[in-house]
Amino acid sequence: MSAAKKWIMLCGLLFGMCSAAHTQSKEKLHIYFIDVEGGQATLFITPAGDSFLIDTGWPGNNSRDADRIAAAAKKAGITKIDYVLLTHFHVDHVGGVPQLVAQVPVGTFIDHGPNREASDASTEKGYEAYQKVLATGKYKHIEAKPGDVLPIKGIKALVISSDGNLIEHALSGAGEANPFCKTSETRAPDQSENAHSLGVLISFGKLSILDLGDLTWDKEMQLMCPTNKLGHVNVLVVSHHGLYQSSSPALVDAIHPQVAIMDNGATKGGSKPTLETLKKIQGLELWQLHYSEEGGSAVNTQDAFIANPQGPDKGNDLELTASQAGSFSVLNPRTGTNKTYTAK
Ligand SMILES: [Zn+2]
Repeated sequence: MSAAKKWIMLCGLLFGMCSAAHTQSKEKLHIYFIDVEGGQATLFITPAGDSFLIDTGWPGNNSRDADRIAAAAKKAGITKIDYVLLTHFHVDHVGGVPQLVAQVPVGTFIDHGPNREASDASTEKGYEAYQKVLATGKYKHIEAKPGDVLPIKGIKALVISSDGNLIEHALSGAGEANPFCKTSETRAPDQSENAHSLGVLISFGKLSILDLGDLTWDKEMQLMCPTNKLGHVNVLVVSHHGLYQSSSPALVDAIHPQVAIMDNGATKGGSKPTLETLKKIQGLELWQLHYSEEGGSAVNTQDAFIANPQGPDKGNDLELTASQAGSFSVLNPRTGTNKTYTAK
């Protein structure tokens, strides 16, 4: 009898039930899109057993975001987070670090290098608090550059953007002329930490998942024009919580994702023009962490694909499970909606 079968039997005998994460973690990739109210916290558990968190949500709020990350870790059956990647140093991404390390052990922090927006008091405060955590000497630290492959076992996490720099050459199989450059307006360079976001393309079997943090429109154009350096992507973690400072057609139409997941809050992100841009992409299904008040009923996705509808906030997550062979499913635990896709 295989170890996995023994575990399932033990679960059945001793506890009555075990979570899917326990029984499937040996073969599947599990991703938890944790609701941090318009910040980001996305937890990956790879089939090799490595755990990888992209961003830590906000500070304060009585440890709300760290509590939610700890709850997701518990649900996933892990007691430690091996890698925490900070896309950039805005407070909705780095802010939760001190509260997180107070309750969950972390192995390695990954970032883009020094804060480039020291003039902004709240950004500098979040960065300094993170530097204090690093200064304890308890953690490994990686400064990642475009083209680096992060040392996470069970997935390939390729760095696409970091500290304002981008991959220089098209990925294998990509590099075609991008017709959506013409339909994307030119915008002034963003000078904030957003444009320095550490963005990754994650590959797992036939599945690809793009998370560029809060990378801005001007950087998207630089990355995607005149040629599409990324090619087609299966799953897009919508940049910048769906704010219209990102999601140019040059990016989102060119990569033509099958599924997009937006880590918006009720009143942060989920911009109407971004929702409209995504709605027009043929075959794309959008899942949202929150109903967007700005979007209204016309452009929000269907209720079954929204983790947190209007009304009192429950902090519900969305979950994605993927197999090496290319099938993946997105689950909305609030409604029980579980839709399976085949990576194309
Ligand atoms: Zn943000």
